[in-house]
Amino acid sequence: MKKLRLEDKLFLDGFRPDDTSHLIVKDEKVCAGKCECRVCLEICPAKVYRWENEKVVVFHEGCLECGTCRIACPEDNLDWRYPRGGFGINHRYG
Ligand code: SF4
Repeated sequence: MKKLRLEDKLFLDGFRPDDTSHLIVKDEKVCAGKCECRVCLEICPAKVYRWENEKVVVFHEGCLECGTCRIACPEDNLDWRYPRGGFGINHRYG
């Protein structure tokens, strides 16, 4: 059997994104000033977080609901929830 790369597996997952984000940055000023590592930009396997116009932008639609960012944020600056019922990721492979 062919070994799949992470990108290949993500392509096989299904997403039903909600209009409202389930990932909320509590205080943008903390990301821009107090946080020294912005680990969310690096640690998220789905690259949900990006640094644009001097702030963290969240593209919640591609979230894998792994919870890594919630644990990794050194400033506890994320309000992390699962998406509402019926929304979010549908793991189909791996
Ligand atoms: Fe990325 Fe996982 Fe956080 Fe979703 S829960 S934003 S996939 S690190």
